[in-house]
Amino acid sequence: MINGIKALDRSLRWGMVGGGGTSQIGYIHRSAATRDNNFTLLAGAFDINAERGRAFGTSLGIEADRCYADYETLFAAEAARPDGIEAVSIATPNNTHFAICRAALNAGLHVVCEKPLCFTAAEADELEQLCAEKKKIIGVTYGYAGHQLIHQAREMIAAGLLGEIRIINMQFAHGFHNEAVELQNESTKWRVDPRFVGPSYVLGDLATHPLFIAETMVPHLQIKRLLCSRQSFVKTRAPLEDNAFVMMEYDNGAVGTMWASAVNCGSMHGQKVRVIGEKASLEWWDEQPNQLRYEVQGEPVQILERGMGYLHPSALADDRIGGGHPEGLFEAWSNLYRRFALAMDATDRGDQAFLKDFWYPGAHAGLMGVRWVEQCVKSADAGAIWIAC
Ligand code: NAD
Repeated sequence: MINGIKALDRSLRWGMVGGGGTSQIGYIHRSAATRDNNFTLLAGAFDINAERGRAFGTSLGIEADRCYADYETLFAAEAARPDGIEAVSIATPNNTHFAICRAALNAGLHVVCEKPLCFTAAEADELEQLCAEKKKIIGVTYGYAGHQLIHQAREMIAAGLLGEIRIINMQFAHGFHNEAVELQNESTKWRVDPRFVGPSYVLGDLATHPLFIAETMVPHLQIKRLLCSRQSFVKTRAPLEDNAFVMMEYDNGAVGTMWASAVNCGSMHGQKVRVIGEKASLEWWDEQPNQLRYEVQGEPVQILERGMGYLHPSALADDRIGGGHPEGLFEAWSNLYRRFALAMDATDRGDQAFLKDFWYPGAHAGLMGVRWVEQCVKSADAGAIWIAC
């Protein structure tokens, strides 16, 4: 159980790029990183607008001379200080992730980066290699994967409770962008502009989340090939898709589907992963994250509740309040940031024994997501053909 005691005997000196006062995702980064005192926010280049970023940073209590105009100055100035930051989180629009990650690693920092990690598998490969060379990590914020019940599912599948896996159904299909809301909303505007998001909208922005949850639940399956069809129902978004369907074949003969959509009218989030084996199925839905459905063929449905003593120890290890009281996205993110702190510390100490079996979404997870999106786009743009992965 996590009760707020620091995971390490120190708090990592931490900075942020992006995630400013008007951003969607900055607050959850700060909340998750500082929840258990594993990170202390000391510096940042929080905003594309330097003045606004400085005002925001000082309003958070950061010294004015450590609120920088841009990430280059942040990394150079902090490297020159004996008490400079050791880690940085990147919460900027997607087109900037690669350059900022690379600069951070070159400056000797550990990194937490938003998804998608970058635009191409070649870039992701380069970042993964740079991590190895610099002996630093990149943690990728697939936040939902920090929910305890994802890890419960992983253990149940590993224990063979579902039998051989046959089908994986994944979806992240909300309805918030059924109209051209980007005309009014700054945070949506860049999401449908290829200059900022690269080759895809919902595949990169949404689908990579359930894809990574499924990879976490069923780590032994590899996607062999896929076929993708994508649509731009709001025409001005073309060539970027606001809806996509993907069919996948896995190396054990299993098949999978992904539905990613921003035009699923009436749906709040609609992120679900259902894993179906030869004996039973498991289903997790992010709108009811405290319950995991376990359905054995021929038996009544079992609803496994978060925080209960019957869960696997590795799921209970991330529990914060016990059963009954709901936990949600903020707790899942805090669990991830706690893991990032442990991985950063173990990497600094060269503790390979610890890192060998320690789970967290790292640079390789980022690479897998980027490569998958790349292949989906290739398939869709060639007329929805099968593409090897
Ligand atoms: P946003 O547009 O709401 O905010 C972006 C922030 O970055 C703003 O504060 C902006 O001023 C700042 N910024 C932009 N360019 C910058 C630069 N070069 N240097 C410093 N600051 C800069 O975007 P958002 O919705 O918060 O998304 C940011 C990232 O987070 C995206 O990559 C997005 O895909 C990701 N995201 C992830 C999740 C998740 O669940 N993991 C959820 C939402 C968004």
